[in-house]
Amino acid sequence: MKNFFDFVKKSPTANLAVGEIKRILTEAGYTELSEREYERFSDGAKHFVIRGQSSIIAFRGKGKGGFMISASHADNPALAVKYQENKPYARLSTEVYGGAIYYSWLDRPLSVAGAVSVRTECGAKIMPVDLERAVATVPSVAIHLNRTVNDGIKINPAKDLLPIVGDIESRASLTSAIAEKLGVREEDIISTELYLYNCDEPRLVGLDGSLILSPRLDDLSSVYAALSGFLSAEENGNFVPVLAVFNNEEVGSATAEGAASTFLHDTLLAISGDEGSLRARLHDSLMLSADNAHALHPNHPELSDAEDTPTLGRGVAVKYNANKRYVTGLASDTAVRLIAEKAGVPLQNYRNRADMPGGSTLGAIATTKVPVPTVDIGIPQLAMHSATETVAVRDLEYMAALHRTHFSLGITDTPDGFVLK
Ligand SMILES: [Zn+2]
Repeated sequence: MKNFFDFVKKSPTANLAVGEIKRILTEAGYTELSEREYERFSDGAKHFVIRGQSSIIAFRGKGKGGFMISASHADNPALAVKYQENKPYARLSTEVYGGAIYYSWLDRPLSVAGAVSVRTECGAKIMPVDLERAVATVPSVAIHLNRTVNDGIKINPAKDLLPIVGDIESRASLTSAIAEKLGVREEDIISTELYLYNCDEPRLVGLDGSLILSPRLDDLSSVYAALSGFLSAEENGNFVPVLAVFNNEEVGSATAEGAASTFLHDTLLAISGDEGSLRARLHDSLMLSADNAHALHPNHPELSDAEDTPTLGRGVAVKYNANKRYVTGLASDTAVRLIAEKAGVPLQNYRNRADMPGGSTLGAIATTKVPVPTVDIGIPQLAMHSATETVAVRDLEYMAALHRTHFSLGITDTPDGFVLK
């Protein structure tokens, strides 16, 4: 569990998560390709490619068969930093990134991470940064000043989610703290993209330690499980394992590097060589779209479907939706059930209550650009989009085992049905 906790700690933002994945892949013998090095994508070696400093796709193998793909996301709801103001205390102005549960950001130790551009002799370079220490907190209003607080609080993000970074005498500046951390001059910082993150430590919880309580479990637990499955899978000559981790899922994926972009398509096309070959190979491909699923809430079972609701510790959830907000279909559902059988991984069903719309996933978005059978799966979790979330240790292990088997197999579409081996 220590490796997973280290991964979460080093991945407060999507660009830093991608940096950490890059480090792990490089240690495992993978080399980075630029999207300019188009002709090298098909050389059969172990490679990864990064777009926008914050989405990454890794692949390997000389195979000319289909792609065994996993897609997950590295971003998470957060408070984006706008600027610093100094009245009445040193304070940061923020706007909310993604669908955060506002109250969960109150009274926590917050740090700042992201990226900045720094002037060079003939231009500028982008540098990732993480202050790695608690520099801010958003104070709640005392109950004595709000006697109805326990009847429910309305939080206005423009007013109530502005963290303080010092006392009335404080003259500390965020830009100078960033400059000092990077060893650059403050006046050389041209532009910034910074987020506040919860710097509470991930930890095991439960009388038997069977739960994980941690920031950013959605979706770093899937990312980590997919990465460890990708690296530990057995080689399967003809098929190409593809690990895709996207930014911007929490804001709809419609960016140059998000799941709605051409990134996955362009990468698979470069590996295939031409459109005709790509289309043929997509027929023998399968994608796992791995994003956490709502587990049965112990205090609010009425919010879940009567039957198809996963519980913590009982295995990976497969998500279904008649309106295709989850894209699991007959073929992809069948395939993942066969893979889970081989992996010895239990599956659970997830369906929204018919009167609740629920969320969407990157699988539904990615398949419009890369038409392959896709199954939406997730580690069951509680408190999704809170600054601190909960999953079961067992389910994280199940997700890693499912990915390992997925990446060790191949799927072939034949006139007599598909063959998985
Ligand atoms: Zn998610």
